[in-house]
Amino acid sequence: MTKRRAIFLDRDGVINANRLDHVKRWDEFVFLPGVLDALRQIAARDFLVILATNQAAINRRLMDETALREIHARMNAEIERAGGCIHAIYFCPHTPEENCDCRKPRPGMYLQAAREFDLDLARSYVVGDALRDMEPAHAIGAQPILVQTGQGCHRQDEDGCGDCPVECVVVQDLRQAVEWIFQQDRVTP
Ligand SMILES: [Mg+2]
Ligand SMILES: [Zn+2]
Repeated sequence: MTKRRAIFLDRDGVINANRLDHVKRWDEFVFLPGVLDALRQIAARDFLVILATNQAAINRRLMDETALREIHARMNAEIERAGGCIHAIYFCPHTPEENCDCRKPRPGMYLQAAREFDLDLARSYVVGDALRDMEPAHAIGAQPILVQTGQGCHRQDEDGCGDCPVECVVVQDLRQAVEWIFQQDRVTP
């Protein structure tokens, strides 16, 4: 059996709007424009859609794990209502000080998903809004795609990836990321 391909998504800044004080409740979760439509389009193709998100707010005790699971359940319900699907969600609850293997830019969450779903990482994609999403993408051999709906790769005022240490494709938003992925698919089926 051939291995499956994944589109890995970061959450904050890709699916929903970033908040400086973290998304701690469902009423703080705001879908970015075009995201539900983009997820519906992915659902028509043969990709696994896997969310990998740092949620240090949990171990900082700003939110508990039950609250996070509740936000994700409601997020998934909206996505499914719109015809999309997120197949799995991985989150890291740790703070940087805990020095875990899963907090991005470490690749732990991606590698765990690759084991659990038998993924072909070299033919997978990672969509994120920050350098810490691009670095693990590069490390696992997947294609990094930077959207500009969040923090931006390096500096907020820089629209591009000029001195980014990781070579990545830069697009506007998740909708454009999906278009780009489908284009690659036509070139290299
Ligand atoms: Mg983000
Ligand atoms: Zn962790």
